[in-house]
Amino acid sequence: MNQSFSPRDLGAHAAADDLFTPVHPAAFNAVSPPIFQTSLFTYDSYEAMEDVFAGRTRNFIYSRGDNPTVREFELLVARLEGAEDGRAFSSGTAAITSTILSLVEAGDRVVAVRHLYNDVYRLLVKLLGRLGVTVDFVDPSDHDEVRKALPGAKLLYLENPSSFIFELQDIVALSAMAKEAGVTTIIDNSWATPLFQKPVQHGVDIVVHAASKYLGGHSDTVAGVVVGSKEAIAKINSTSYPYVGAKLAPFEAWLLLRGMRTLRVRLKEHERSGLLLADRLKQHPGIARVRHPAFQDHPGRATLTGYAGLFAFDLTPDIDVARFVNALREIRLGVSWGGPETLVVPAKVALQIPDRMTTFIRFGVSEQTIRFAVGLEEPELLWNDLQQALHAAKR
Ligand SMILES: *Cc1c(COP(=O)(O)O)cnc(C)c1O
Repeated sequence: MNQSFSPRDLGAHAAADDLFTPVHPAAFNAVSPPIFQTSLFTYDSYEAMEDVFAGRTRNFIYSRGDNPTVREFELLVARLEGAEDGRAFSSGTAAITSTILSLVEAGDRVVAVRHLYNDVYRLLVKLLGRLGVTVDFVDPSDHDEVRKALPGAKLLYLENPSSFIFELQDIVALSAMAKEAGVTTIIDNSWATPLFQKPVQHGVDIVVHAASKYLGGHSDTVAGVVVGSKEAIAKINSTSYPYVGAKLAPFEAWLLLRGMRTLRVRLKEHERSGLLLADRLKQHPGIARVRHPAFQDHPGRATLTGYAGLFAFDLTPDIDVARFVNALREIRLGVSWGGPETLVVPAKVALQIPDRMTTFIRFGVSEQTIRFAVGLEEPELLWNDLQQALHAAKR
Protein backbone atom coordinates (compact mmCIF):
# COMPACT_ATOMS: atom_id res chain seq x y z
CA MET A 1 0.00 0.00 0.00
CA ASN A 2 2.62 2.47 1.09
CA GLN A 3 4.94 1.56 -1.75
CA SER A 4 2.29 1.43 -4.46
CA PHE A 5 3.54 3.92 -6.97
CA SER A 6 3.99 3.50 -10.66
CA PRO A 7 5.27 5.90 -13.31
CA ARG A 8 1.67 5.98 -14.56
CA ASP A 9 0.89 8.07 -11.49
CA LEU A 10 2.59 10.89 -13.33
CA GLY A 11 -0.13 12.96 -14.93
CA ALA A 12 -2.82 10.74 -13.44
CA HIS A 13 -4.12 13.33 -11.01
CA ALA A 14 -6.16 15.57 -13.27
CA ALA A 15 -9.12 15.33 -10.90
CA ALA A 16 -7.07 16.94 -8.12
CA ASP A 17 -6.96 20.30 -9.83
CA ASP A 18 -9.20 21.76 -12.47
CA LEU A 19 -6.50 24.13 -13.68
CA PHE A 20 -4.32 21.19 -14.52
CA THR A 21 -6.99 19.20 -16.36
CA PRO A 22 -6.54 20.68 -19.83
CA VAL A 23 -2.80 20.32 -19.76
CA HIS A 24 -2.27 16.62 -19.74
CA PRO A 25 -4.42 15.62 -22.71
CA ALA A 26 -2.59 18.29 -24.67
CA ALA A 27 0.62 16.40 -24.09
CA PHE A 28 -0.33 13.79 -26.77
CA ASN A 29 -0.01 11.03 -24.16
CA ALA A 30 3.74 11.56 -24.17
CA VAL A 31 5.21 9.15 -21.62
CA SER A 32 7.56 11.88 -20.41
CA PRO A 33 5.76 15.13 -19.59
CA PRO A 34 6.61 18.28 -21.57
CA ILE A 35 8.60 21.14 -20.06
CA PHE A 36 6.62 24.37 -20.19
CA GLN A 37 9.71 26.52 -20.37
CA THR A 38 7.84 29.81 -20.31
CA SER A 39 7.73 32.75 -17.95
CA LEU A 40 4.24 33.95 -18.95
CA PHE A 41 0.96 32.95 -20.58
CA THR A 42 -1.06 35.11 -22.99
CA TYR A 43 -4.79 35.71 -23.58
CA ASP A 44 -6.83 36.15 -26.74
CA SER A 45 -8.80 39.19 -25.58
CA TYR A 46 -9.29 41.81 -22.90
CA GLU A 47 -12.28 39.83 -21.65
CA ALA A 48 -10.34 36.56 -21.48
CA MET A 49 -7.57 38.24 -19.49
CA GLU A 50 -10.03 39.92 -17.17
CA ASP A 51 -11.84 36.61 -16.55
CA VAL A 52 -8.59 34.99 -15.48
CA PHE A 53 -7.53 37.87 -13.24
CA ALA A 54 -10.97 38.07 -11.64
CA GLY A 55 -10.88 34.32 -10.99
CA ARG A 56 -13.92 33.61 -13.21
CA THR A 57 -11.94 31.26 -15.44
CA ARG A 58 -8.69 29.56 -14.58
CA ASN A 59 -5.55 29.75 -16.63
CA PHE A 60 -1.90 30.15 -15.95
CA ILE A 61 -0.64 33.73 -15.63
CA TYR A 62 3.05 33.90 -14.76
CA SER A 63 5.51 31.16 -13.80
CA ARG A 64 6.44 32.74 -10.47
CA GLY A 65 2.89 31.86 -9.53
CA ASP A 66 2.02 28.71 -11.46
CA ASN A 67 3.55 26.68 -14.26
CA PRO A 68 2.14 23.44 -15.71
CA THR A 69 5.35 21.39 -15.32
CA VAL A 70 5.81 22.60 -11.74
CA ARG A 71 2.12 21.94 -11.06
CA GLU A 72 2.52 18.35 -12.22
CA PHE A 73 5.32 17.83 -9.71
CA GLU A 74 3.36 19.50 -6.89
CA LEU A 75 0.29 17.35 -7.49
CA LEU A 76 2.33 14.17 -7.80
CA VAL A 77 3.94 14.68 -4.39
CA ALA A 78 0.60 15.70 -2.83
CA ARG A 79 -0.99 12.55 -4.20
CA LEU A 80 1.81 10.29 -2.95
CA GLU A 81 1.61 11.86 0.50
CA GLY A 82 -2.18 11.56 0.60
CA ALA A 83 -2.46 15.35 0.89
CA GLU A 84 -4.90 17.64 -0.92
CA ASP A 85 -2.49 20.09 -2.47
CA GLY A 86 1.16 21.08 -2.73
CA ARG A 87 3.51 23.93 -3.54
CA ALA A 88 7.02 23.56 -4.93
CA PHE A 89 10.02 25.79 -4.24
CA SER A 90 13.54 26.34 -5.51
CA SER A 91 14.95 24.56 -2.42
CA GLY A 92 13.84 22.54 0.58
CA THR A 93 14.84 25.46 2.77
CA ALA A 94 12.65 27.87 0.74
CA ALA A 95 9.71 25.46 1.19
CA ILE A 96 10.31 25.25 4.95
CA THR A 97 10.87 29.01 5.41
CA SER A 98 7.78 29.93 3.37
CA THR A 99 5.65 27.38 5.23
CA ILE A 100 6.71 28.59 8.66
CA LEU A 101 6.35 32.26 7.63
CA SER A 102 2.77 31.53 6.53
CA LEU A 103 1.93 30.36 10.05
CA VAL A 104 3.72 32.59 12.55
CA GLU A 105 3.76 36.25 13.48
CA ALA A 106 5.57 38.36 16.07
CA GLY A 107 4.90 37.11 19.57
CA ASP A 108 4.27 33.52 18.49
CA ARG A 109 6.16 30.52 19.81
CA VAL A 110 7.34 27.44 17.93
CA VAL A 111 8.07 24.03 19.48
CA ALA A 112 10.73 22.09 17.57
CA VAL A 113 12.53 18.80 18.07
CA ARG A 114 15.90 19.53 19.65
CA HIS A 115 17.88 18.17 16.78
CA LEU A 116 17.04 19.25 13.26
CA TYR A 117 18.45 20.19 9.92
CA ASN A 118 21.04 22.89 10.55
CA ASP A 119 19.58 25.63 8.37
CA VAL A 120 16.13 25.09 9.86
CA TYR A 121 17.68 25.45 13.30
CA ARG A 122 19.29 28.70 12.16
CA LEU A 123 16.04 29.90 10.55
CA LEU A 124 14.16 29.37 13.80
CA VAL A 125 16.78 30.89 16.07
CA LYS A 126 18.16 33.67 13.88
CA LEU A 127 15.63 34.93 11.32
CA LEU A 128 12.46 34.17 13.29
CA GLY A 129 14.16 35.37 16.46
CA ARG A 130 14.67 38.76 14.79
CA LEU A 131 10.99 38.82 13.82
CA GLY A 132 9.89 38.26 17.42
CA VAL A 133 9.09 34.55 17.24
CA THR A 134 10.51 32.35 20.00
CA VAL A 135 11.40 28.64 19.90
CA ASP A 136 11.38 25.89 22.50
CA PHE A 137 13.52 22.90 21.58
CA VAL A 138 12.25 19.66 23.09
CA ASP A 139 13.42 16.08 23.48
CA PRO A 140 10.83 14.36 21.25
CA SER A 141 10.97 11.14 23.29
CA ASP A 142 10.05 12.99 26.47
CA HIS A 143 6.31 13.30 25.91
CA ASP A 144 5.79 15.13 29.20
CA GLU A 145 8.21 17.81 28.09
CA VAL A 146 6.43 18.15 24.73
CA ARG A 147 2.99 18.21 26.36
CA LYS A 148 4.09 21.03 28.66
CA ALA A 149 5.62 23.04 25.81
CA LEU A 150 2.62 22.85 23.46
CA PRO A 151 -0.14 24.99 25.04
CA GLY A 152 -0.06 28.44 23.47
CA ALA A 153 2.45 27.46 20.78
CA LYS A 154 1.70 28.05 17.09
CA LEU A 155 3.41 25.04 15.58
CA LEU A 156 5.26 21.83 16.32
CA TYR A 157 8.16 21.02 13.98
CA LEU A 158 9.30 17.40 13.56
CA GLU A 159 11.83 15.34 11.58
CA ASN A 160 11.40 11.57 11.79
CA PRO A 161 14.22 10.53 11.94
CA SER A 162 16.18 13.68 12.74
CA SER A 163 19.22 14.94 10.83
CA PHE A 164 22.70 13.60 11.63
CA ILE A 165 21.76 11.49 14.68
CA PHE A 166 18.63 9.82 13.25
CA GLU A 167 16.66 10.16 16.45
CA LEU A 168 13.14 8.75 16.08
CA GLN A 169 9.88 10.45 17.02
CA ASP A 170 6.48 8.94 17.68
CA ILE A 171 4.66 11.12 15.17
CA VAL A 172 1.27 9.55 15.96
CA ALA A 173 1.47 10.50 19.64
CA LEU A 174 3.13 13.87 19.04
CA SER A 175 0.70 15.05 16.37
CA ALA A 176 -2.26 13.92 18.52
CA MET A 177 -0.89 15.97 21.43
CA ALA A 178 -0.46 18.97 19.13
CA LYS A 179 -3.99 18.61 17.78
CA GLU A 180 -5.35 18.56 21.30
CA ALA A 181 -3.49 21.77 22.07
CA GLY A 182 -4.62 23.40 18.80
CA VAL A 183 -1.07 23.43 17.43
CA THR A 184 -0.25 22.84 13.73
CA THR A 185 2.25 20.03 13.11
CA ILE A 186 4.88 20.18 10.36
CA ILE A 187 7.21 17.30 9.53
CA ASP A 188 10.28 17.15 7.33
CA ASN A 189 9.77 13.83 5.49
CA SER A 190 12.83 14.04 3.22
CA TRP A 191 14.49 10.97 4.72
CA ALA A 192 11.60 8.51 4.41
CA THR A 193 9.91 10.00 1.32
CA PRO A 194 6.17 9.32 0.91
CA LEU A 195 7.02 5.75 -0.07
CA PHE A 196 8.34 4.90 3.41
CA GLN A 197 6.28 7.25 5.61
CA LYS A 198 2.97 9.02 5.02
CA PRO A 199 2.70 11.49 7.90
CA VAL A 200 -0.69 12.92 6.85
CA GLN A 201 -2.21 9.47 7.51
CA HIS A 202 -0.80 9.69 11.02
CA GLY A 203 -2.26 13.07 11.91
CA VAL A 204 0.48 15.46 10.77
CA ASP A 205 -0.90 18.63 9.12
CA ILE A 206 1.90 19.72 6.79
CA VAL A 207 4.74 17.75 5.15
CA VAL A 208 7.88 19.41 3.78
CA HIS A 209 10.58 17.89 1.58
CA ALA A 210 14.07 18.66 0.44
CA ALA A 211 13.29 17.34 -3.07
CA SER A 212 17.03 17.83 -3.70
CA LYS A 213 17.51 14.49 -1.96
CA TYR A 214 15.61 11.27 -2.76
CA LEU A 215 12.72 12.75 -4.77
CA GLY A 216 15.11 14.13 -7.40
CA GLY A 217 17.53 11.35 -6.65
CA HIS A 218 20.31 12.19 -9.10
CA SER A 219 22.34 14.94 -7.38
CA ASP A 220 21.48 17.31 -10.21
CA THR A 221 18.96 19.72 -8.73
CA VAL A 222 18.12 21.68 -5.57
CA ALA A 223 14.37 21.87 -4.91
CA GLY A 224 11.69 21.69 -2.25
CA VAL A 225 8.00 21.01 -1.85
CA VAL A 226 5.33 21.33 0.83
CA VAL A 227 2.03 19.44 0.90
CA GLY A 228 -1.03 19.62 3.13
CA SER A 229 -4.70 20.52 3.12
CA LYS A 230 -6.04 22.89 0.45
CA GLU A 231 -6.43 25.43 3.23
CA ALA A 232 -2.81 25.15 4.40
CA ILE A 233 -1.45 25.50 0.86
CA ALA A 234 -3.84 28.39 0.14
CA LYS A 235 -2.42 30.15 3.19
CA ILE A 236 1.13 29.69 1.88
CA ASN A 237 -0.03 30.92 -1.53
CA SER A 238 -1.52 34.06 -0.05
CA THR A 239 0.94 34.94 2.71
CA SER A 240 4.48 33.98 1.67
CA TYR A 241 4.88 32.19 -1.66
CA PRO A 242 4.33 35.10 -4.08
CA TYR A 243 6.65 37.45 -2.18
CA VAL A 244 9.41 35.04 -1.22
CA GLY A 245 9.62 34.41 -4.97
CA ALA A 246 11.58 31.19 -4.57
CA LYS A 247 9.65 29.37 -7.28
CA LEU A 248 10.73 26.09 -8.79
CA ALA A 249 11.96 26.35 -12.40
CA PRO A 250 10.11 24.28 -15.04
CA PHE A 251 13.28 22.43 -16.01
CA GLU A 252 14.01 21.56 -12.37
CA ALA A 253 10.41 20.32 -12.01
CA TRP A 254 10.95 18.16 -15.08
CA LEU A 255 14.16 16.72 -13.58
CA LEU A 256 12.22 15.90 -10.41
CA LEU A 257 9.42 14.21 -12.38
CA ARG A 258 12.04 12.21 -14.22
CA GLY A 259 13.78 11.25 -10.99
CA MET A 260 10.54 10.22 -9.34
CA ARG A 261 9.79 7.68 -12.04
CA THR A 262 12.45 5.47 -10.44
CA LEU A 263 11.84 6.46 -6.81
CA ARG A 264 10.51 3.06 -5.81
CA VAL A 265 13.40 1.01 -7.17
CA ARG A 266 16.04 3.49 -6.01
CA LEU A 267 14.71 3.53 -2.46
CA LYS A 268 14.59 -0.26 -2.28
CA GLU A 269 18.24 -0.38 -3.28
CA HIS A 270 19.26 2.41 -0.85
CA GLU A 271 17.41 0.51 1.88
CA ARG A 272 18.97 -2.87 1.07
CA SER A 273 22.55 -1.55 0.79
CA GLY A 274 22.10 0.71 3.81
CA LEU A 275 20.90 -2.13 6.05
CA LEU A 276 23.61 -4.47 4.81
CA LEU A 277 26.39 -1.97 5.51
CA ALA A 278 24.87 -0.81 8.82
CA ASP A 279 24.77 -4.41 9.99
CA ARG A 280 28.37 -5.12 9.01
CA LEU A 281 29.64 -1.83 10.46
CA LYS A 282 27.94 -2.68 13.75
CA GLN A 283 30.06 -5.80 14.01
CA HIS A 284 33.34 -4.15 13.01
CA PRO A 285 35.83 -3.56 15.87
CA GLY A 286 36.60 -0.06 14.53
CA ILE A 287 32.98 1.09 14.95
CA ALA A 288 31.66 2.18 18.36
CA ARG A 289 28.07 2.79 17.37
CA VAL A 290 25.76 2.74 14.35
CA ARG A 291 22.99 5.35 14.33
CA HIS A 292 20.41 3.69 12.08
CA PRO A 293 16.66 3.82 12.84
CA ALA A 294 16.44 0.04 12.31
CA PHE A 295 18.56 -0.46 15.43
CA GLN A 296 16.42 1.74 17.68
CA ASP A 297 13.68 0.17 19.75
CA HIS A 298 11.38 3.19 19.57
CA PRO A 299 7.67 3.72 18.75
CA GLY A 300 8.79 6.21 16.06
CA ARG A 301 9.71 3.20 13.93
CA ALA A 302 6.06 2.19 13.55
CA THR A 303 5.22 4.79 10.91
CA LEU A 304 8.25 3.88 8.77
CA THR A 305 7.48 1.20 6.20
CA GLY A 306 11.06 1.14 4.97
CA TYR A 307 14.52 2.53 5.69
CA ALA A 308 16.40 5.06 3.63
CA GLY A 309 20.13 4.71 2.97
CA LEU A 310 21.20 7.64 5.14
CA PHE A 311 22.54 6.98 8.64
CA ALA A 312 25.61 7.65 10.79
CA PHE A 313 28.28 5.68 12.59
CA ASP A 314 30.83 6.55 15.28
CA LEU A 315 34.43 5.45 14.85
CA THR A 316 36.16 4.04 17.94
CA PRO A 317 38.70 6.41 19.56
CA ASP A 318 41.61 4.48 18.01
CA ILE A 319 40.47 5.33 14.46
CA ASP A 320 41.68 8.71 13.19
CA VAL A 321 38.79 10.54 11.47
CA ALA A 322 40.90 12.45 8.92
CA ARG A 323 42.96 9.39 8.01
CA PHE A 324 39.81 7.27 7.65
CA VAL A 325 38.18 9.77 5.32
CA ASN A 326 41.36 10.32 3.28
CA ALA A 327 41.80 6.56 2.85
CA LEU A 328 38.37 6.13 1.21
CA ARG A 329 38.70 5.49 -2.54
CA GLU A 330 35.20 4.76 -3.78
CA ILE A 331 33.24 6.73 -1.20
CA ARG A 332 33.46 10.49 -1.57
CA LEU A 333 33.37 13.45 0.77
CA GLY A 334 30.43 15.76 0.26
CA VAL A 335 27.27 17.23 1.70
CA SER A 336 23.71 16.44 0.66
CA TRP A 337 22.46 12.89 0.02
CA GLY A 338 19.82 10.94 -1.86
CA GLY A 339 21.71 10.58 -5.14
CA PRO A 340 23.53 7.62 -6.70
CA GLU A 341 26.90 8.41 -5.05
CA THR A 342 27.92 7.25 -1.60
CA LEU A 343 29.07 10.20 0.52
CA VAL A 344 30.45 10.88 3.98
CA VAL A 345 30.34 14.00 6.15
CA PRO A 346 32.50 13.88 9.30
CA ALA A 347 30.76 15.64 12.23
CA LYS A 348 34.16 17.12 13.11
CA VAL A 349 34.14 19.04 9.81
CA ALA A 350 30.42 19.89 9.92
CA LEU A 351 31.03 21.47 13.32
CA GLN A 352 33.39 23.98 11.71
CA ILE A 353 30.46 25.77 10.02
CA PRO A 354 30.04 29.14 11.74
CA ASP A 355 26.86 29.18 13.87
CA ARG A 356 26.62 25.43 13.75
CA MET A 357 24.12 24.47 16.39
CA THR A 358 25.93 24.67 19.67
CA THR A 359 23.77 21.88 21.00
CA PHE A 360 25.16 19.45 18.44
CA ILE A 361 27.60 17.65 20.72
CA ARG A 362 25.27 17.72 23.71
CA PHE A 363 22.73 15.60 21.86
CA GLY A 364 25.12 12.77 21.28
CA VAL A 365 27.08 13.60 18.14
CA SER A 366 30.74 12.97 18.85
CA GLU A 367 33.84 14.12 17.01
CA GLN A 368 34.08 10.48 15.84
CA THR A 369 30.63 10.58 14.18
CA ILE A 370 30.48 10.14 10.41
CA ARG A 371 27.26 10.74 8.47
CA PHE A 372 26.97 8.12 5.77
CA ALA A 373 24.75 8.44 2.67
CA VAL A 374 24.68 5.07 0.95
CA GLY A 375 24.28 5.49 -2.80
CA LEU A 376 23.48 3.01 -5.55
CA GLU A 377 26.89 1.41 -6.05
CA GLU A 378 27.40 -2.32 -5.59
CA PRO A 379 27.36 -2.67 -1.78
CA GLU A 380 30.31 -5.10 -1.67
CA LEU A 381 32.44 -2.44 -3.35
CA LEU A 382 31.46 -0.01 -0.60
CA TRP A 383 32.10 -2.55 2.13
CA ASN A 384 35.61 -3.26 0.80
CA ASP A 385 36.29 0.46 0.73
CA LEU A 386 35.10 0.95 4.32
CA GLN A 387 37.14 -2.00 5.56
CA GLN A 388 40.37 -0.90 3.95
CA ALA A 389 39.93 2.69 5.17
CA LEU A 390 39.20 1.53 8.72
CA HIS A 391 42.34 -0.59 8.60
CA ALA A 392 44.46 2.27 7.23
CA ALA A 393 43.21 4.75 9.85
CA LYS A 394 43.97 2.66 12.92
CA ARG A 395 46.30 4.53 15.27
C1 LIG B 1 18.93 19.06 2.67
C2 LIG B 1 17.86 19.10 3.68
C3 LIG B 1 17.00 20.19 3.78
C4 LIG B 1 17.15 21.45 2.96
O1 LIG B 1 16.95 21.23 1.62
P1 LIG B 1 17.63 22.19 0.50
O2 LIG B 1 17.01 21.75 -0.77
O3 LIG B 1 19.10 21.92 0.59
O4 LIG B 1 17.30 23.58 0.87
C5 LIG B 1 15.96 20.13 4.69
N1 LIG B 1 15.79 19.05 5.48
C6 LIG B 1 16.61 18.00 5.43
C7 LIG B 1 16.37 16.85 6.34
C8 LIG B 1 17.68 17.99 4.55
O5 LIG B 1 18.53 16.95 4.53
